[in-house]
Amino acid sequence: PEKEDVVRAAVREFPDFPTPGVLFRDITPVLKDPAVFRTVIDLFEVHVRANYTKVDLIAGLDSRGFLFGPALAQRINVGFIMIRKKGKLPGLTESVSYSLEYGKAELEIQRDAVDPGQKVILIDDLLATGGTMSAACELLTRRGAEILDCLVLIELLSLRGADKLKPHRTHSLLAYD
Ligand code: IMP
Repeated sequence: PEKEDVVRAAVREFPDFPTPGVLFRDITPVLKDPAVFRTVIDLFEVHVRANYTKVDLIAGLDSRGFLFGPALAQRINVGFIMIRKKGKLPGLTESVSYSLEYGKAELEIQRDAVDPGQKVILIDDLLATGGTMSAACELLTRRGAEILDCLVLIELLSLRGADKLKPHRTHSLLAYD
């Protein structure tokens, strides 16, 4: 089977989680099987190598971006930085607030995480409305970073997150309607 099919077979669906009407995509089995997890990192690595000759940093989104980001960063021999939910990081930070379906949230980065002009690739497990990823892009842009691409394992096409992220580029391994 194609590598993408191996990964797709390892994504589970839970109806009505965390709230009624939501179909939750659960990546737990992807991580539990080392061959599948390796395949995911292989696919991200192939995409990055094929599209970018120079990358300075991989930036992972709290919290499932932290599962894939460091493994990819090691493969391409660059550093990894964390974009966290507010209140988790010590020292000088910069934060951005963004709206959720119900209410607001804030993402935060340490001010010395990235230098102006550095080329950064963002990564998370899943792109839904794109609200979280676009807030992360805003944060990195404010710090002067150059955003090369936004990588996700799963993209929910009907929510049009990739449109929201434009002009930034998006790449997903698996797309669902
Ligand atoms: P967005 O901001 O609407 O694009 O939502 C994306 C964020 O919510 C990501 O950080 C995901 O981890 C999380 N998320 C939304 N839906 C799901 C899901 O079905 N499974 C796992 N995570 C999800």
